[in-house]
Amino acid sequence: MGAPARHPDLDMDLDHLIRTVPDFPKPGIGFRDITPLLAHAHALEEAIDRMTTLFRASHVESVVAIESRGFLFGAPLAIRLGAGLVPCRKPGKLPAATRSRAYELEYGTATLEIHEDALEAGARVLICDDVLATGGTLEAAIGLVGDLGATVVGCATLIELEGLEGRARLRGTRVESLLQMPA
Ligand code: AMP
Repeated sequence: MGAPARHPDLDMDLDHLIRTVPDFPKPGIGFRDITPLLAHAHALEEAIDRMTTLFRASHVESVVAIESRGFLFGAPLAIRLGAGLVPCRKPGKLPAATRSRAYELEYGTATLEIHEDALEAGARVLICDDVLATGGTLEAAIGLVGDLGATVVGCATLIELEGLEGRARLRGTRVESLLQMPA
């Protein structure tokens, strides 16, 4: 008989494994560094377990993971959910034909791309990233999934920065974050 299935440990404190680095990458930004959590075997598994539990009943067929830290959660999440993995990348990284969307950052703009044949029309898609801040990144990813004719069943992030109204910007989409922190 195999080992019993592991269930999420609701008491495990993941917050203390997020390190805030002041003034990175520019003055005034409090960067939420997830590397201590990634380095902790049980915490990493715990985070993936919690995301899986939140979306297990959503019949996810594809996980769209956002470059680059979204990849770290998207791949194990896709495996746990029995879904495929689709990378959503910065411009010029994907080799085949892409669809792209530009979006506003605090200073300037950014662009995300996805392979135009990456999703079946009507596919049930979960979008995954490490941090929800202003919501611009996830909004662009939701737009790309819609451009391909697929259906977003939700967004999963490890951290949500409160006070930036990111969640309000994504109204109409289910958004789940494991940790809520001040911006
Ligand atoms: P936004 O589009 O404003 O929601 O920003 C989310 C994206 O920017 C995510 O891909 C994050 O990796 C990154 N990000 C934004 N703010 C932070 C922060 N304070 N610490 C770490 N990553 C951040």
